[in-house]
Amino acid sequence: MKKQRTACPGHVSTLLGQVAIATGKVSIRGEHEHRDIVHILMEQAGARVTTKMSGQISLLIHGDLSGQVVVDLAREYSQKILDVLDEDKTGHHVCVVSSLGLSELLEGRAAPCLHDHIV
Ligand SMILES: [Zn+2]
Repeated sequence: MKKQRTACPGHVSTLLGQVAIATGKVSIRGEHEHRDIVHILMEQAGARVTTKMSGQISLLIHGDLSGQVVVDLAREYSQKILDVLDEDKTGHHVCVVSSLGLSELLEGRAAPCLHDHIV
């Protein structure tokens, strides 16, 4: 029997109401941005930004992902990614977007959920 999971349509449509955490170097519209700036922009878009992993997290911004193909990240897994994997084991789906995805979300567009690429 398949374990119960939070439904994910395969994309993230809005930052509004998300509990978000960022890892890696995040860039917005191709420019590296300081973590504080990234947090402010996400909060302005309606997300609650946290720096501690918890069961509340709904969105991980993985700054190091190129946004397209994600191959062999095993050696680059950060602690936050590992935490996401732990959450996954408990059936809690945390959506993952790249810097590119975050830029899209900040523009009001949907971003692909890369969760399945890292888990
Ligand atoms: Zn997802």
